[in-house]
Amino acid sequence: MIVGGGPAGLSAALVLGRARRRVLVVDAGRPANRVSRVVGGLLGHSDSPAALRRNGLRQLRELPTVDVIEGEALDAKLEDGGVSVAVARPSGVWNLRARALLLANGLNYEPPAIPGAESLWGRSVFHCAFCDGWEVADRPIAMHARGASGARLALLLRGWSDDVLLCTDGPDELSDDDRERLAAAGVRIRTERVARLESRRRRLTQIVFEEGEPEARDALFVRPRRTQPSEIAERLGIELDDHELIPADQSGRTELPGVYVAGDASAEVRSVAIAIGSGSRVGIAMAADLIVDRLATHA
Ligand SMILES: Cc1cc2nc3c(=O)[nH]c(=O)nc-3n(C[C@H](O)[C@H](O)[C@H](O)COP(=O)(O)OP(=O)(O)OC[C@H]3O[C@@H](n4cnc5c(N)ncnc54)[C@H](O)[C@@H]3O)c2cc1C
Repeated sequence: MIVGGGPAGLSAALVLGRARRRVLVVDAGRPANRVSRVVGGLLGHSDSPAALRRNGLRQLRELPTVDVIEGEALDAKLEDGGVSVAVARPSGVWNLRARALLLANGLNYEPPAIPGAESLWGRSVFHCAFCDGWEVADRPIAMHARGASGARLALLLRGWSDDVLLCTDGPDELSDDDRERLAAAGVRIRTERVARLESRRRRLTQIVFEEGEPEARDALFVRPRRTQPSEIAERLGIELDDHELIPADQSGRTELPGVYVAGDASAEVRSVAIAIGSGSRVGIAMAADLIVDRLATHA
């Protein structure tokens, strides 16, 4: 069973289904990038996240080994030789059993609580320059962050625009060295508290501060809080790492037998391409484990 039908889960399902394993994907249908117009930076695809998903599902429908259903996995526990999972569906709660479980549940991305940010999330308020920088290149843009990592992120944005503003929304927590590097790169710093974001037709127009003049900007990059969107890992007794990620080896094997993880849920660097690659890699490991284990049991 695969919990999560985003790029990681569907990619793993493709590998497992083609390896003739019976696969059930349970998906709540809330992928991280659902608000975005396009998937930026994915080879061979420059359309929306929904179009990518449609194409993936069409491909999976051709495999008699794979089923994808809507539902939310609520609980899971290890049982002799497998896992049991409680899944909420419109018709009620289903209790399902599987020999192995892949957690491909992604992450929740929560933008900072700046009034106006939520409605612009994925449209003018972004978290990743590599995903959305291209679309706002050479425009006036801003980074909302502070400290050494804020300085680094603001400097990174200079790769896309000469007009970068660092909004620290309070004490900047910058070292003298950071300040010098930012000044040398032409990055301005505003330390006043951000009061709100103003927009027109879901496009940022300006950042308004509690004091001083507003700044006209076309995009604001932020550092969202990332959390697991579901309690499944916790219910299984998996301890998350300091970044709220599910620890696993390179092939996605967690500390629990028969439980794997792929995609954002366990990734330090996150993108659709990485999630697809991770799903594929973990799908290969799972299929090999399942096939070889079964042969060993029958020996
Ligand atoms: C606003 C935004 C824009 C982005 N833009 C880009 C971009 O342009 N290019 C790019 O490469 N990357 C982009 N990313 C990153 C990219 O979206 C993620 O790296 C990628 O979606 C991760 O894939 P995933 O399959 O691991 O998780 P997701 O795509 O998040 O899919 C996880 C799925 O699991 C489901 N799920 C969760 N819990 C449960 C449960 N308990 N039961 C059943 N289902 C469950 C969710 O509903 C969801 O459908 C963006 C991210 C954000 C937040």
